[in-house]
Amino acid sequence: MVLLTTSKETPLKSPIRPRLLIGAAVLPLAIGAAVLQLGSASATETTKEKPQPTSAQSLVIGSKDTPQPQDMESFLTAVTKDVDTYWTKVFKDSDLPEPRATYSWIPAGQTAASACGDGTSDLGDSAAAYCPGDDTIYISEKFATDIFDGALNSSLPGSSQGYGKTYGDFAVAYIVAHEYGHQVQNELGLDQRYGGSVPTMAFELQADCYAGNWAKSASDQGRLENGDEQEALDAALAVGDFNTQQPGHHGTPEQREDAWKTGFDSGDPSSCDQYMQAG
Ligand SMILES: [Zn+2]
Repeated sequence: MVLLTTSKETPLKSPIRPRLLIGAAVLPLAIGAAVLQLGSASATETTKEKPQPTSAQSLVIGSKDTPQPQDMESFLTAVTKDVDTYWTKVFKDSDLPEPRATYSWIPAGQTAASACGDGTSDLGDSAAAYCPGDDTIYISEKFATDIFDGALNSSLPGSSQGYGKTYGDFAVAYIVAHEYGHQVQNELGLDQRYGGSVPTMAFELQADCYAGNWAKSASDQGRLENGDEQEALDAALAVGDFNTQQPGHHGTPEQREDAWKTGFDSGDPSSCDQYMQAG
């Protein structure tokens, strides 16, 4: 496993576009300060839309005997390491060099300078992106917290139209695993191979599928609890969009849910090849 946090140097700006979680680059953020209580079903009530927790919904990081992360920054890091462990094994089993993942968690109210930044602070409080230019996963801690407590349901493209919702730790884990999926694509050279020939949606659905692969491995290890799988499916629905005519279309709610489910049900990364071929 090679896992690095970003260096503090500001990378050169370039026109390379980030691979965002959500098709719409600008996301109107819902208001509502949240008290983060990971692994708890009692996050502070902040919005009317917030769904009621169904049951215990805690992804176990490592094993049940090890201390679990208690804040969003450490949760994001722990999930990234968990996903990295999965892909490191997948790559090793395929005689590929181990993946090299870099991540940067953006504190609330701050922006990150990235090779994908274009000066409009698009890597700020609404960021969940992978930047191929500097090979780094960027996720805003505020965004992740708002996903965790459902504060964004009225502003996400799918959930605002009644498709899914975001709530709980596994919704956040889905996002981390999706962004890592773009990292996997980069490692496999898929950007170069398919970037000019398949639509954005192909990369996005494949990243959702890869996120499902990792979730299946965690499930097989007995580290998911009731409700986790549904949290990911609901989150995939929630981030789907309807801009089917736009080049930046990421997939409809149903397509994104289906892609995650394809990866989960198969537990096999090769099941995710179909998205590139579909282009
Ligand atoms: Zn994406």
